[in-house]
Amino acid sequence: MQHFPIFVALAGRRVVLSGGGEAALAKLRLLLKTEAHLTVFSPAPAPEIRDLAKAGRLRLVERAMAPGDATCAVLFYAADEDAVEDARTSALARADGALVNIVDNLGDSQFITPAIVDRDPVTVAIGTEGAAPVLARAIKADLEARLPAQLGLLARVGKGFRKMAERLAPGRPRRDFWRDWYFESGPRALERDPGEDSAARALQDLLPRHLAREARIGHVAFVGAGPGDPELLTLKARRALDEADVVLYDRLVSPEILELARREARMIDVGKEAFGRHTPQHEIDALIVAHAREGAQVVRLKSGDATVFGRLDEEIEACEAAGVSWTIVPGITAASASVAAIGQSLTRRGRNASVRFLTGHDMAGFADHDWAALSRPGEVAAIYMGKRAARFLQGRLMMHGADRATPVTVIENASRTDQRVIGATLGDLSDALTEAALDGPALLLYGLAPRDAATAMPALKTQEVS
Ligand code: SAH
Repeated sequence: MQHFPIFVALAGRRVVLSGGGEAALAKLRLLLKTEAHLTVFSPAPAPEIRDLAKAGRLRLVERAMAPGDATCAVLFYAADEDAVEDARTSALARADGALVNIVDNLGDSQFITPAIVDRDPVTVAIGTEGAAPVLARAIKADLEARLPAQLGLLARVGKGFRKMAERLAPGRPRRDFWRDWYFESGPRALERDPGEDSAARALQDLLPRHLAREARIGHVAFVGAGPGDPELLTLKARRALDEADVVLYDRLVSPEILELARREARMIDVGKEAFGRHTPQHEIDALIVAHAREGAQVVRLKSGDATVFGRLDEEIEACEAAGVSWTIVPGITAASASVAAIGQSLTRRGRNASVRFLTGHDMAGFADHDWAALSRPGEVAAIYMGKRAARFLQGRLMMHGADRATPVTVIENASRTDQRVIGATLGDLSDALTEAALDGPALLLYGLAPRDAATAMPALKTQEVS
């Protein structure tokens, strides 16, 4: 770092500038924001500079600079836009003990003026040591757009409240309070009613709300996000999302549903990590507990129903071990959305009095099941995570005597706009899956055909009456 950034108090200090043209004016515009005593030396000043002198904003001396003119000055700007004159004036100023800046001459300058985002009293200074002026401008434009225009006023009002805000615990509660003020509640209050008084009232109202929030103890809601269609969320799930401070969500939760979370909520994707790996379960457990312990209302959002193949118990046990309170908000599981998609019911009098939820694979690989029972006519099973296990399932079931004409319907992206239904039979299941080249989540409904296709399938008819 060649130039060390500092903010210099210029109130009542002397700042001298030599020059009367555009470069001089550009610097003066900035310097006039300060409370420095400005003196300008120029034999031929621009009319604007004369006007500023007339208005008492600066002292104008209409001649070239001479030795001793920068006495007691803290800063000096050589802005004559003439290399020889700039070298002369800066040498004089340096002899008088001022720090020197030469416009457009970084090498000979003792200090430089950064690009500035001005939200007085908040000032952001951007410097690139002259390496990338374009980048400095881009960063400035970005910050200008991002920082509320009234941030200065909000900060001024906020300053008077610093002591009062200390009633909030240091750390997160206090951070959340100021964040809310500067970026949410403050700008909103000023939109409704601009002015310092209304801002002060809004800030006064904000504190009790945050004190109340702080008094809450952390809680974890295990919420089922349903199969994807946001309209299949429960009212309770919506409310939990509305009130969440932190949402930890899985890969399969659809973006439309994440949109519904409270705007200020912190959204944490625990479904993926760098290089496509999943966040390890013990890390998810630790995250849930850590946030709840800080007092956050945590929503652990899982696709479908949280209690179905969701590793819920491990997370509940982590909460229990940490003494964190928790609740479960049930959701619509993929099996319900999938039968709805094909116009069937999961159970049917005379066909199946029970239904199984199976997983195609578990931690150890392809999962084993009671194949003999499943092979009996009329059996219905919803098979989760069954895409890769399809050939294995097919083999096991047929080996145990299942009819190869038994319908198996594959529903990809159930309830989503890109939902697909693939009708197959046990015999052609793996070929049908290869052909369909699925890339979304898919559920296999074993023993059920789409309602429309049912009559076209003699095997199913027999099964239905048997
Ligand atoms: N808790 C979830 C299941 C999680 S296991 C639930 O109750 O639905 C993940 C498996 O669920 C996926 O491999 C797929 O088999 C199934 N699944 C989840 N969402 C699905 C959807 N929209 N359509 C079809 N299957 C889905």
